[in-house]
Amino acid sequence: MMPLTEPAIRAAFVNLTKGEAKRLAVPIDLAERPWDDLDFFGWRDLSAPERAYLIAEPGSGPVGVALRVAPQTGRARRSMCSLCLTTHTGDGVSLMTARKAGPAGRQGNSVGAYICTDLACSLYLRGKKNAGRRIEESITLTEKIERTSTNLAGLLRKVVG
Ligand SMILES: [Zn+2]
Repeated sequence: MMPLTEPAIRAAFVNLTKGEAKRLAVPIDLAERPWDDLDFFGWRDLSAPERAYLIAEPGSGPVGVALRVAPQTGRARRSMCSLCLTTHTGDGVSLMTARKAGPAGRQGNSVGAYICTDLACSLYLRGKKNAGRRIEESITLTEKIERTSTNLAGLLRKVVG
């Protein structure tokens, strides 16, 4: 994806108020992120572990979603990311909940999805980050990336309503 700037990131959020988007913690090392290898940009707020954010470009312009990360249960079980379908053991996958955009969100409606805890789906797909034992699939990397983008677009559609 194209590198994002801090103002573009703050302006992209669909499920935050303007004030929340202004205050959220944007990584300071944007220039060093591996943009060429990213299908979406996701990060955790290091000072608030329950907060995660992702920015995708499903069509024209970036769309950002703020997520709440459910506390880990500490059980060493295997679970699968619903975006990139990478399987992790332990707390490598987290349940993340997004408040819906607009009136639905203000009424308390949200959308949940299991997502790689570090939001590094793009790097797992490309083998640039190791998730341990991988499930062998006969489809190409391009197809896996397309599948992930489709899954992400589906999540964004649910958030936007
Ligand atoms: Zn993932």
